[in-house]
Amino acid sequence: PPPAEKYEYQAEVSRLMDLIVNSLYSNKEVFLRELISNASDALDKLRYLSVTDPQLSKDAVDLDIRIQTDKDNGIITITDSGIGMTRQELVDCLGTIAQSGTAKFLKAVKESKDAGTDNNLIGQFGVGFYSAFLVSDKVVVSTKSPKSDKQYVWEGEANASSYTIREETNPENLIPRGTRLTLYLKRDDKGFAHPERIQKLVKNYSQFVSFPIYTWQEKGITKEVEVDEDPAEAKEADQDEKIEKKKKTKKVVERYWDWELTNETQPIWLRNPKEVTTEEYNEFYKKTFNEYSDPLASSHFTTEGEVEFRSVLYVPAASPMGRDDITNPKTKNIRLYVKRVFISDDFDGELFPRYLSFVKGVVDSNDLPLNVSREILQESRIVRIMRKRLVRKTFDMILGISMSENKGDYETFWENFGKHLKLGCIEDRENHKRLAPLLRFFSSQSEDEMISLDEYVENMKAEQKDIYYLAADSVSSARNTPFLERLLEKDLEVLYLVDPIDEVAIQSLKSYKEKNFVDISKEDLDLGDKNEEKEKVTKEEFSRTCDWIKKRLGEKVANVQISNRLSSSPCVLVSGKFGWSANMERLMKAQTV
Ligand code: ADP
Ligand code: MG
Repeated sequence: PPPAEKYEYQAEVSRLMDLIVNSLYSNKEVFLRELISNASDALDKLRYLSVTDPQLSKDAVDLDIRIQTDKDNGIITITDSGIGMTRQELVDCLGTIAQSGTAKFLKAVKESKDAGTDNNLIGQFGVGFYSAFLVSDKVVVSTKSPKSDKQYVWEGEANASSYTIREETNPENLIPRGTRLTLYLKRDDKGFAHPERIQKLVKNYSQFVSFPIYTWQEKGITKEVEVDEDPAEAKEADQDEKIEKKKKTKKVVERYWDWELTNETQPIWLRNPKEVTTEEYNEFYKKTFNEYSDPLASSHFTTEGEVEFRSVLYVPAASPMGRDDITNPKTKNIRLYVKRVFISDDFDGELFPRYLSFVKGVVDSNDLPLNVSREILQESRIVRIMRKRLVRKTFDMILGISMSENKGDYETFWENFGKHLKLGCIEDRENHKRLAPLLRFFSSQSEDEMISLDEYVENMKAEQKDIYYLAADSVSSARNTPFLERLLEKDLEVLYLVDPIDEVAIQSLKSYKEKNFVDISKEDLDLGDKNEEKEKVTKEEFSRTCDWIKKRLGEKVANVQISNRLSSSPCVLVSGKFGWSANMERLMKAQTV
């Protein structure tokens, strides 16, 4: 066979390997989580691709993961019967960083270094395949892709800047399909090769892998074997009247090794919601989405009838690090399955509107074809119905957070995802009724705690018809505007819209519970207390003063008028009825710069 070829790692990989090898990371065991998740991904890929190309799984091997340990030599092998890798794929996948997860990790490491913090980043993010080097001096990957007739071996060592690839020549190592990873553990990490230790870790980390994972375990079987009679005992027995000549037996334990199923493979969404605990939902969330903290809320439901699907949805407790997903809908947050087969996590734009892209979860449909493509999803009536249901369930879930006893939960939610809901007001008219009750604003009567529109409406005066708002840079600048004077005097509450997107969102809603939103900085503010007679007199009295001011200011203002809206300030600049508010004007200016 041709000799092994040597390859250099891409610069980022070398950097990552340095970080890993030199980490004093105490939670090294996450390597197993990463390698099992790769094996599971490889099996998912095979199952998915063989729907359209049955040739790929022509080798009728079971889809499973097998982990064997050699504790005397400190060796772990992890074998999967998944999609495997061709020679080129070995170079592309294990020599370069193509995937965003690891890139994100590197960025976070840099940020946390800059900030002088050092938190558990490997455990939080996972560093994929390379985490094998947390515990190994040497890693050997022997892999057979169904697309190739040869099996290849990738070999890399910790602290090396290069790796090699060669053909597999040892007949003992040949596998029909898939990948076998052999980890040669570091001296101090050989303990991971104890079968009981591995079994415990698999149970802990792979509870939700939907393929069977077997570990190689020592077993004992109790057998009865015949033993020769003890002469002393026989003598004693002789003294008894009845002499029973009976062969004696002894129980012995015979030891042998065998594969043992180590995980439970029933996916959580197929279980009865009544039997799943919150802890289990949270664990599933963290394992599936590589999250570090528990979600704020979850929702597990089944729909039947017209369209049948099952889903578990989550609202995360934090928005993703260093990424604004309003502008990046490609979040891999929704994992789509068809009849238990994992299809893709690239479809979220079709299943959820952009503004809800922060929702994470799994969706398993019985009605979509297995070879479903993005085009099919976009056109499908089934998907439209699914989308509607998913969105409704999401609103229920968010409403649930807002009603939770723990008030802090909704504050956390609003801080992270309030912007998303406001974007929803602009983009999703159909759901205005569901969105509006979830909004929160500061107000003239509640400057420290945000209030809901329901709270506002409850607090309205008997004769008050509209919901008043004022857009400003901040609560303190809102508080200081003369527009407020009359309203404060009359004890009317005013919402402070201090986020740039607030005003557009409110204008899209137009009204809430049949009460219009009214901008108190606009020209024709009517507080329902007009005294027309008196106004007419005042207007006449001051008409020459107004003319004079208008003359002096010229083009700078459109009009100078007498108004009843102020109580202590002598004058105020207002926007025209159909013009932009001062805040909008500021926004537009900011956008054109
Ligand atoms: P990620 O899993 O996030 O893509 P990893 O570093 O864990 O990143 O793995 C890199 C790539 O190597 C995977 O995307 C996959 O293409 C390939 N790979 C890793 N392990 C296996 C495996 N057991 N079988 C097939 N391909 C694998
Ligand atoms: Mg991975």
